[in-house]
Amino acid sequence: MRNDRRNFLTSAASFAVSYGVLTCLGIAPEKKSTRVILLGTKGGPRVGESGRSNPSTLILIDDVPYVIDCGYGTSRQLVTAGVPINKVRYIFITHHHSDHNLEYGALFYNAWATGLPMRVDAYGPTGLEKMTQDFFSYMKFDIDTRIEDEGRPDLRKLVFAHDFNAAGVVMQNDDVKVTSCLVRHPPIKQAYAYRFDARDRSVVISGDTTYAPSLAEFAKGADVLVHEVMYPPAIEALLKRVPNAARLREHLLASHTVPEDVGKIAAQAGVKTLVLSHFVPGDDPSITDEQWTEGVRKYFKGRIIVGKDLMEI
Ligand SMILES: [Zn+2]
Ligand SMILES: [Zn+2]
Repeated sequence: MRNDRRNFLTSAASFAVSYGVLTCLGIAPEKKSTRVILLGTKGGPRVGESGRSNPSTLILIDDVPYVIDCGYGTSRQLVTAGVPINKVRYIFITHHHSDHNLEYGALFYNAWATGLPMRVDAYGPTGLEKMTQDFFSYMKFDIDTRIEDEGRPDLRKLVFAHDFNAAGVVMQNDDVKVTSCLVRHPPIKQAYAYRFDARDRSVVISGDTTYAPSLAEFAKGADVLVHEVMYPPAIEALLKRVPNAARLREHLLASHTVPEDVGKIAAQAGVKTLVLSHFVPGDDPSITDEQWTEGVRKYFKGRIIVGKDLMEI
């Protein structure tokens, strides 16, 4: 608990303060070259009132930011976490629901506006390359104007999108190997989990999925599994607030994971730490941490963290 609180960054400033306090007390904060920071933990495209931002996860490997999913608010959350946007080097999209890609173009645009000095490589299921070109069309007037008027480099020559349509190795450099696994998120067929194997830690991000046994195999022995979760008792309350309740209920039950199944996946995978994120519903403050974890604990006996925005793991 203490560790979680210590790692809960409400701002870069508070991080600096807590770092200083802990250092004064002779308790040096754990230094890891691979750090995981939850940027947004609210599942779904609605902009919530609870304080949870839409989905995005940051992995920092030797201070290089790898952003997984770009829900609305990702750029702001990066700034709040103390990560300069123009340092973003790699972007990964798990699937093309808008809570995972709405700020994709805006993120590399914001990096450029902040002084993007080098290329960005983006990876995702088929459609990402076209989406990138479409974003350039959408922003053509502004991009052309700023190149001419402000002497900026051409953003279109700095962003490289890479589509893939099957599981396997997504990218590899000296610091990390990134692989993907097909998960189950109907009606979307191309929905993936990502695994980051860095020198010191292995981190798996489930993306959006219902119970997927292949994910347990994929996450085998990982240090950290960040898994989405849905709490069925609260779904009915959520559905009362929307006009498309019947269809939405059907979608949610078929394409997301209940706590008991999250516990089974984590146990089968034998991960050290399970982090719950992408909460559905993610804007119902009446659901306690205990309620989120109760079903998970029936199957998984390891460390469980109920994710919060800007928490570092
Ligand atoms: Zn989602
Ligand atoms: Zn989704």
